[in-house]
Amino acid sequence: MDEIENYLLSLMPKLGPNKLRELVRLMYEIQKRDQSALEVILPFEKNISFEKAKKQLLQKRYPVNFKTAPKDRFYLPKLELDPSLQAQLTPREFYPKTIYVEDSVADSELADRVRRKFPQAQFKEWDGKTQVGEVNFSRRLETLVVHREKYDFLKPCPCSCGSAGCGYNLMNLGFGCRFECEYCFLQQYQNLHAVLLPANVEEFLSKVDKVHFNKGLFDRPRIGSGEFTDSLVFDDLTQYSRQIVPFFRSRPHLQFEFKTKSTNIGNLLKMDGCENVVVSWSVNAAPVVEKVEHFSASLSERFKAARAVALAGYRLGFHFDPVIIYEGYQQDYARTVEQMAQELPHDKIAWISVGTLRFSRELKKNIENRFPQNTILDGEFLLDFDGKMRYSDSQRLEAYRFLVPLLRATFPKACVYLCMEDPAVVHLMS
Ligand code: SF4
Repeated sequence: MDEIENYLLSLMPKLGPNKLRELVRLMYEIQKRDQSALEVILPFEKNISFEKAKKQLLQKRYPVNFKTAPKDRFYLPKLELDPSLQAQLTPREFYPKTIYVEDSVADSELADRVRRKFPQAQFKEWDGKTQVGEVNFSRRLETLVVHREKYDFLKPCPCSCGSAGCGYNLMNLGFGCRFECEYCFLQQYQNLHAVLLPANVEEFLSKVDKVHFNKGLFDRPRIGSGEFTDSLVFDDLTQYSRQIVPFFRSRPHLQFEFKTKSTNIGNLLKMDGCENVVVSWSVNAAPVVEKVEHFSASLSERFKAARAVALAGYRLGFHFDPVIIYEGYQQDYARTVEQMAQELPHDKIAWISVGTLRFSRELKKNIENRFPQNTILDGEFLLDFDGKMRYSDSQRLEAYRFLVPLLRATFPKACVYLCMEDPAVVHLMS
């Protein structure tokens, strides 16, 4: 960063701090993406004007959208890199050092299983109020909290402000995840840096019959876990699925969805499946799974697990989310669709969603700090209708016009829909 600042000041010695900040941001992003020398990015020109330098840099940083995007949609925040925040990417077992158990669930089955599974951990009583957890998000797996959820049982999916919703309903069973997807919104959203697991699933389920659910785009209301965690990543420990499946089996007017990137399906396979329990996998182009979704199951492992649960009687869902646009991405996504077509029973696929990468402004800084070598931020992201960063409408439409018809043609019985999109874009795709 100092090198970039010094170079810019050698061109424009009188540059003020705000203007310098914008140009540093642009130079940094171009250098990271192209790996080129500063003199190549902005050739030396003594006393070049700020306006001219910024225009040249914007053109290089946003070659697809520079001419068409309004200039206030380019987001150029201060570059603030802190190496101490980097994610730990060496594989490690999930074994929390400290485990808090809330007094009111000290005798629960979950607390008991946790004690048996992590005998070396330091156990502490928790009153449900005192602040716990780590300061740094990257150390969140060192603390586990077994608690009693009191308020947040069921809610309509908040979607994204102004987006076209699909009528989803959420049951937030747990907070925190042991995978490290570079785009994960929890990096910015999770303010208690620990894994939280509720021990009172029956209380969540007891609310279901009292709610009138919206069925949205589907034949029946859909309820799912997996907003603030992966639905199955801890299922061998929590065993939530062992309560959820029988509960929904007896309520065929509803459907429940587990969303995962894991292969933690042992409990599901011990029970008979049912058609109104849908086990969904997030899927992506193979290079994205390998390089961006750290510690999650490979695509082949996900499809193998999906086939196994389908044979056990569950239906399947898939989420192409987030689709990431890069040179040659269409070929890679087409290969994933081909692999699905070859390896999965088509008639078991209930739905497939598609959504391109989007993130809040704050999350961009988290990703930069936690994954400084990431390539996902090299795309052209613009400030969008809901304050989030997205690819331009034309780039998103190009991705959807390629992938959605391909999925509909390959899996004609599945409901294929867009997730968290601008209603105008959804309209253009309908
Ligand atoms: S699986 Fe989901 S919750 Fe877990 S890190 Fe990835 S995006 Fe986040």
